Amino acid sequence: MSAKQDIYELLLSELEDGVAALGEPRYRAWQVMRWVYGRGVREFAAMSDLPKSLRSALEERYAFGLPRVAQCSTAQDGVKKLLLELADRELIESVIIPARGRVTLCISSQVGCAMACAFCATARMGLRRNLRAGEIVGEVLAAGEKLDPGQPSFTNYVFMGMGEPLANYIRLRRALAIMTAPWGLGISPRRITVSTVGLAAMMERLVVETGVNLAVSLTASSDGQRDRLMPINRRFPLAALLKGCQRVALKRRQRITFEYVMLKDVNDSRQDAERVVKLLAPLRAKVNLICFNRFEGSTFEPSSRQAMERFQAILRDGNLTATIRESRGRDIAAACGQLRVEAQQVDGPLKCAGALRAQ
Ligand code: SF4
Repeated sequence: MSAKQDIYELLLSELEDGVAALGEPRYRAWQVMRWVYGRGVREFAAMSDLPKSLRSALEERYAFGLPRVAQCSTAQDGVKKLLLELADRELIESVIIPARGRVTLCISSQVGCAMACAFCATARMGLRRNLRAGEIVGEVLAAGEKLDPGQPSFTNYVFMGMGEPLANYIRLRRALAIMTAPWGLGISPRRITVSTVGLAAMMERLVVETGVNLAVSLTASSDGQRDRLMPINRRFPLAALLKGCQRVALKRRQRITFEYVMLKDVNDSRQDAERVVKLLAPLRAKVNLICFNRFEGSTFEPSSRQAMERFQAILRDGNLTATIRESRGRDIAAACGQLRVEAQQVDGPLKCAGALRAQ
């Protein structure tokens, strides 16, 4: 990024202050935002209803910090994986997943990740840095340009790419504000899901402050098991995590989605399923059983279809809504982390934490 400020980083009020400082009426900022988000314009010179002097002044102060699409691979099933290069040449990935009339965008929130989940390729990178809000917004815009001609825009947005979104909360919240604002991308918060490993203290804040859906990666039925699979559990053990979930103020008919990556002979037994039923019984919860995608160097194996169906049946018998997510995009290395695909539900999240970088 140059010394100029990234226009995608700005809230309307901040741009209003910016144009006011240039001696222009504040409403000019709204006009600029309409060009930027309503019409997708990427240069001030094209903003024909602004005075030329203002266009030049904006040009001097602000830049369009869109990431560069370094690679775009399309799988046989239509899943597209994008490798995006940021201004400092760091790389992140986003995934476009078409499914039954819906198009979901899986978004990264950090470069790498510090959470060290044992079943995730991204974890091997460690955390390189947080994404700025403008970079997250830029990710959404850059991915939008890779939709097929005639393909409808994204119907769902899931923060399940690289990184732990709640570990980058302030920037995430700003990005969500821009994504959901009427002057911004105008996306309904109900169409957005943020997935966390369970940073219990932040979950409540996320839902109250942004109104988006919450997904929690559970992936274990006991503390011992989760300690091994997800080190965050040592900080927020299951009791603390579930207590945190209970404190989340859900809207009517809203539920927390719990993701459960199915690992053969690790967490997929009958007893595991029964424990999950008990753990989630006090909550308004639904469960996504996610097929583990192998990646190079991983010692885990995916559970069999039979084991997944048995697990699902036990959850359903325990009055939990449980769906099985099929894997998609295997032929384009979507298996680098866990590319998980929504097959049935509108708000069902994906967890596609992955890293072309990590491969
Ligand atoms: S699964 Fe998500 S939170 Fe865990 S290491 Fe991977 S990217 Fe980070």
